[in-house]
Amino acid sequence: MKRIVFIYLLLSFLSSCHLSSTDGDGSKISAQKGVLDLTGVNESSYYMFSLGGEWEFVYGLHVSPEEVGGEQWEHEKEIIRVPSTWKDYLYKGKKLPGTGIATYRLTVITGDKNTGSLAVLIPGWETAYRLFVNSKEVASAGVAGNDPTNSVPAWTPRIAEFSVADEVQELVIHITNFSHARGGPAMMPFIGTVDAVRKMRERNIGIKFFSFGGLFIISLYHLAIFLLRRKDRSSLYFSLFCMTMAIRSLVINEQGLLLFLPSISWDIHVRISYLSFALALPTITLFLESLYKDDMKRFLTRLFVASGLIYAAIIVFTPPAFFTFLVAPFQAVIFTAAVYGIIILSVSTHRKRDEARLFLGAFVFFFLCVINDILFHHQITSVGYIVPMGFHIFIFFQAIILAKRYASSYTKIEELFMEKTNLEGATITLQSLSYLDPLTGLPNRRRLDEYLDQSWRLALREGGEISLIMIDIDFFKKYNDHYGHPAGDETLKMVASTIQSSIHRPADLSARYGGEEFVVLLPGTGAEGALAVAENIRFKVNSLGIPAADKSVSEYLSISLGCSTVKPASEDAPLHLVELADQALYQAKAAGRNRVEGNLPPVEN
Ligand code: GH3
Ligand code: MG
Ligand code: MG
Repeated sequence: MKRIVFIYLLLSFLSSCHLSSTDGDGSKISAQKGVLDLTGVNESSYYMFSLGGEWEFVYGLHVSPEEVGGEQWEHEKEIIRVPSTWKDYLYKGKKLPGTGIATYRLTVITGDKNTGSLAVLIPGWETAYRLFVNSKEVASAGVAGNDPTNSVPAWTPRIAEFSVADEVQELVIHITNFSHARGGPAMMPFIGTVDAVRKMRERNIGIKFFSFGGLFIISLYHLAIFLLRRKDRSSLYFSLFCMTMAIRSLVINEQGLLLFLPSISWDIHVRISYLSFALALPTITLFLESLYKDDMKRFLTRLFVASGLIYAAIIVFTPPAFFTFLVAPFQAVIFTAAVYGIIILSVSTHRKRDEARLFLGAFVFFFLCVINDILFHHQITSVGYIVPMGFHIFIFFQAIILAKRYASSYTKIEELFMEKTNLEGATITLQSLSYLDPLTGLPNRRRLDEYLDQSWRLALREGGEISLIMIDIDFFKKYNDHYGHPAGDETLKMVASTIQSSIHRPADLSARYGGEEFVVLLPGTGAEGALAVAENIRFKVNSLGIPAADKSVSEYLSISLGCSTVKPASEDAPLHLVELADQALYQAKAAGRNRVEGNLPPVEN
């Protein structure tokens, strides 16, 4: 398990290195006062740089590329950071609203080495734009008009290729936003050789689809587990959480959704995007609750779930300008929920709940990734954006936590099953013990009665005969008196094993009937067979050569045997077989002992 975690961490780390090297240019150059100077840093024929930094900016106007740089422009322009939105930006002493139109300008000094073609990558900006390079329009998304009636929003990343004749490229961008709460170039644009820019976009799309595929499969897998075992809701909530995140990975940054549905309207697009964000809170809250219910306050859980669902409803039913405006308060709710989650997991860890420590570790790790990205965004750290990687690791740990839970349930089931088997074994042993005579180890009277009953019914059905031999040791009272009770016990054992060894058919049964009396039951054996078995037993016991106490019949210990054979004809007469054998035994005793007596031919009963 540890090895898998390690490999995963390594892969994620490598892919994150990938991300940061493509998202950024690795060097610290950025635009200063509207100028990005790439001479000196731009030595190779394959390169890419981010266009972040200080751009020139005029709000409220789309200034044509020809007029940009003119007198009016110089008078109106201010400096603004890219990427960022213009909302709340202090422009001519006044805070700007989120909506409106604006013109951005950046002068890029590419140097004399770069004649030929270059490309600019523009992400999905809020919410429509036209890009001019050296006064020629090279890309646009949506319709960047100057009022709501002649504008159409879109989030479409574009690669704009253009031929370069000069050492200086002038980028002018008209941006329009009447749809979203915050307008402007909120994501980082890049410039580079055509090859480099295309490759970065391809790689980023590849990573997005890897991310989508992974989350999607994890989601389906846990959904299947839930459908097979509905009692445990944790897999359902985890599945839903992964699904919202899978969808989210398709609608952020690279806009993978557009590759499948290029004609999807911005209105639907923005709703899907924000829904995937809003629904993450209720699903992860429910997931956490399904694992650590006892440590959580029910009303807080409900509050978080409700706020996510209410925000989702707002996203479905209100215009984008309104619900995108609510993103900041919702982020505050998410932040509160995250802090609450960490507190709960600390409590659960303290109470030694299953896997709480692992969950806490993953949670804190992901939280730190978020904080890092915020710091990186404000250029306080230089680690790069690591939230996508952090998120994968987080999800992976959740999957491990669920897997550990399943594994421990299986172990529990196995243990229970073992216990059950042991109990059954013990029951069987007890049962068989209750069927055995402790002294001789032969089946006892109870077993004989049951077996006689079964055999009787079988013979009744199949029309066969049953024979029974009743055996009694001669003068055994005297034997005990003479040699003592312990010696008598030993002799009983010897006689018992001699009787036992004299019967061979699987259906035959010998039993201790009581005291020094034994019975041999021979289902499916006729009178002649029974007499033969009886005589054999008599002979073998006498041949043991145990000195008799009363030698009037034989020098050695002897037995008397009575045989009975019956062809069963009615249900209730097995006891008759015993009575007949007992009578025959009585005759044998009366006739002088050490002999076999029996009824021939068999009696119909
Ligand atoms: P008979 O030849 O007429 O059968 O005479 P007997 O002495 O064998 O018959 P009786 O029924 O009078 O005596 C049976 C004796 O068997 C009584 C008892 O001392 C002895 N006996 C019964 N159960 C046990 C036992 O478990 N161990 C021992 N050592 N002796 C037993
Ligand atoms: Mg007796
Ligand atoms: Mg006896």
